[in-house]
Amino acid sequence: MKSKLAPHPHSPLSRRLTPARQQALDILVQANRPVGAYEMIELMVDGKGKRPAPISVYRALAYLLDNGLAHRLASQNAFVVCGHCHDAEEPVVFLICEQCGEVKEATSAELSRELAAVAKSAGFSPRTRVVEIAGRCGRCANGGRSQQPL
Ligand SMILES: [Zn+2]
Ligand SMILES: [Zn+2]
Repeated sequence: MKSKLAPHPHSPLSRRLTPARQQALDILVQANRPVGAYEMIELMVDGKGKRPAPISVYRALAYLLDNGLAHRLASQNAFVVCGHCHDAEEPVVFLICEQCGEVKEATSAELSRELAAVAKSAGFSPRTRVVEIAGRCGRCANGGRSQQPL
Protein backbone atom coordinates (compact mmCIF):
# COMPACT_ATOMS: atom_id res chain seq x y z
CA MET A 1 0.00 0.00 0.00
CA LYS A 2 2.32 2.76 -1.15
CA SER A 3 -0.24 4.85 -2.98
CA LYS A 4 -1.97 7.63 -1.12
CA LEU A 5 -4.42 7.88 -3.97
CA ALA A 6 -6.75 5.20 -2.68
CA PRO A 7 -9.25 6.95 -0.42
CA HIS A 8 -11.21 3.78 0.15
CA PRO A 9 -8.62 1.14 0.85
CA HIS A 10 -11.27 -1.14 2.32
CA SER A 11 -13.42 -0.96 -0.73
CA PRO A 12 -12.97 -3.58 -3.42
CA LEU A 13 -14.09 -0.88 -5.85
CA SER A 14 -10.81 0.95 -5.58
CA ARG A 15 -9.07 -2.05 -7.08
CA ARG A 16 -11.29 -2.55 -10.11
CA LEU A 17 -11.73 0.90 -11.52
CA THR A 18 -11.34 1.39 -15.24
CA PRO A 19 -8.44 3.67 -16.23
CA ALA A 20 -10.78 6.63 -16.87
CA ARG A 21 -12.51 6.20 -13.53
CA GLN A 22 -9.20 5.77 -11.73
CA GLN A 23 -7.79 8.86 -13.43
CA ALA A 24 -10.84 10.92 -12.51
CA LEU A 25 -10.58 9.72 -8.93
CA ASP A 26 -6.84 10.46 -8.81
CA ILE A 27 -7.46 13.98 -10.07
CA LEU A 28 -10.05 14.61 -7.38
CA VAL A 29 -7.76 13.22 -4.68
CA GLN A 30 -4.83 15.30 -5.85
CA ALA A 31 -6.88 18.46 -6.26
CA ASN A 32 -8.26 18.12 -2.74
CA ARG A 33 -10.90 20.69 -3.66
CA PRO A 34 -14.00 20.77 -5.86
CA VAL A 35 -13.28 20.18 -9.55
CA GLY A 36 -15.80 21.05 -12.24
CA ALA A 37 -16.52 18.72 -15.13
CA TYR A 38 -14.92 21.04 -17.69
CA GLU A 39 -11.82 21.41 -15.57
CA MET A 40 -11.76 17.64 -15.17
CA ILE A 41 -11.72 17.23 -18.95
CA GLU A 42 -8.75 19.61 -19.18
CA LEU A 43 -6.93 17.76 -16.41
CA MET A 44 -7.47 14.45 -18.19
CA VAL A 45 -5.74 15.59 -21.37
CA ASP A 46 -3.04 13.02 -21.99
CA GLY A 47 0.66 13.54 -22.68
CA LYS A 48 -0.01 13.95 -26.41
CA GLY A 49 -2.56 16.69 -25.78
CA LYS A 50 -5.47 14.40 -26.59
CA ARG A 51 -8.63 15.43 -24.84
CA PRO A 52 -10.99 12.77 -23.52
CA ALA A 53 -14.53 12.68 -24.87
CA PRO A 54 -16.73 14.64 -22.46
CA ILE A 55 -19.20 11.77 -22.32
CA SER A 56 -16.53 9.40 -21.02
CA VAL A 57 -15.54 11.93 -18.37
CA TYR A 58 -19.18 12.35 -17.32
CA ARG A 59 -19.59 8.59 -17.20
CA ALA A 60 -16.48 8.20 -15.05
CA LEU A 61 -17.74 10.92 -12.68
CA ALA A 62 -21.20 9.37 -12.55
CA TYR A 63 -19.63 6.06 -11.63
CA LEU A 64 -17.63 7.65 -8.83
CA LEU A 65 -20.79 9.35 -7.54
CA ASP A 66 -22.90 6.21 -7.75
CA ASN A 67 -20.31 4.25 -5.84
CA GLY A 68 -19.75 6.75 -3.09
CA LEU A 69 -16.19 7.57 -4.13
CA ALA A 70 -17.05 11.19 -4.84
CA HIS A 71 -19.81 13.71 -4.27
CA ARG A 72 -21.27 16.44 -6.39
CA LEU A 73 -21.48 19.94 -4.96
CA ALA A 74 -24.59 21.45 -6.51
CA SER A 75 -23.75 24.99 -5.41
CA GLN A 76 -20.41 24.86 -7.24
CA ASN A 77 -21.38 22.46 -9.99
CA ALA A 78 -18.25 20.55 -9.09
CA PHE A 79 -17.09 17.21 -7.75
CA VAL A 80 -15.11 16.33 -4.65
CA VAL A 81 -13.58 13.08 -3.59
CA CYS A 82 -15.36 11.42 -0.68
CA GLY A 83 -13.24 11.63 2.42
CA HIS A 84 -15.12 8.93 4.27
CA CYS A 85 -16.13 5.33 3.94
CA HIS A 86 -19.82 5.85 4.43
CA ASP A 87 -22.98 4.34 3.03
CA ALA A 88 -24.48 5.95 -0.04
CA GLU A 89 -27.64 6.57 1.97
CA GLU A 90 -25.79 8.40 4.68
CA PRO A 91 -26.26 12.15 4.49
CA VAL A 92 -23.15 14.25 4.12
CA VAL A 93 -22.63 17.83 5.15
CA PHE A 94 -20.24 19.96 3.17
CA LEU A 95 -18.72 22.94 4.90
CA ILE A 96 -17.62 25.15 2.04
CA CYS A 97 -15.29 28.07 2.72
CA GLU A 98 -16.08 30.90 0.35
CA GLN A 99 -12.79 32.57 1.11
CA CYS A 100 -10.13 29.89 0.59
CA GLY A 101 -12.28 27.30 -1.18
CA GLU A 102 -11.67 24.57 1.36
CA VAL A 103 -14.40 21.95 1.48
CA LYS A 104 -14.80 19.72 4.50
CA GLU A 105 -17.07 16.72 4.51
CA ALA A 106 -18.82 15.66 7.67
CA THR A 107 -21.45 13.15 8.61
CA SER A 108 -23.69 12.97 11.62
CA ALA A 109 -25.77 10.10 12.91
CA GLU A 110 -28.27 12.51 14.46
CA LEU A 111 -28.61 14.40 11.21
CA SER A 112 -29.06 11.12 9.42
CA ARG A 113 -32.01 10.23 11.64
CA GLU A 114 -33.53 13.69 11.45
CA LEU A 115 -33.30 13.87 7.66
CA ALA A 116 -34.83 10.43 7.36
CA ALA A 117 -37.69 11.53 9.64
CA VAL A 118 -38.26 14.73 7.67
CA ALA A 119 -38.40 12.84 4.37
CA LYS A 120 -40.59 10.12 5.81
CA SER A 121 -43.14 12.50 7.29
CA ALA A 122 -43.43 14.12 3.88
CA GLY A 123 -43.76 10.73 2.18
CA PHE A 124 -40.67 11.63 0.20
CA SER A 125 -38.07 9.20 -1.18
CA PRO A 126 -34.75 11.04 -1.20
CA ARG A 127 -32.24 10.32 -3.95
CA THR A 128 -29.53 12.61 -2.64
CA ARG A 129 -28.76 13.53 0.93
CA VAL A 130 -26.26 16.33 0.65
CA VAL A 131 -26.28 19.45 2.78
CA GLU A 132 -24.08 22.30 1.62
CA ILE A 133 -23.18 25.01 4.06
CA ALA A 134 -21.28 28.01 2.73
CA GLY A 135 -19.30 30.33 4.94
CA ARG A 136 -15.80 30.66 6.27
CA CYS A 137 -13.55 27.95 7.60
CA GLY A 138 -11.91 28.20 11.00
CA ARG A 139 -8.70 29.60 9.58
CA CYS A 140 -10.38 32.27 7.46
CA ALA A 141 -12.92 33.20 10.14
CA ASN A 142 -10.13 33.79 12.60
CA GLY A 143 -8.19 35.86 10.15
CA GLY A 144 -5.03 37.15 11.81
CA ARG A 145 -6.38 36.77 15.29
CA SER A 146 -4.90 34.00 17.36
CA GLN A 147 -7.66 31.73 18.46
CA GLN A 148 -7.96 28.05 18.99
CA PRO A 149 -8.54 26.19 15.74
CA LEU A 150 -12.00 24.76 15.22
ZN1 LIG B 1 -18.59 11.10 1.39
ZN1 LIG C 1 -11.13 29.25 4.45
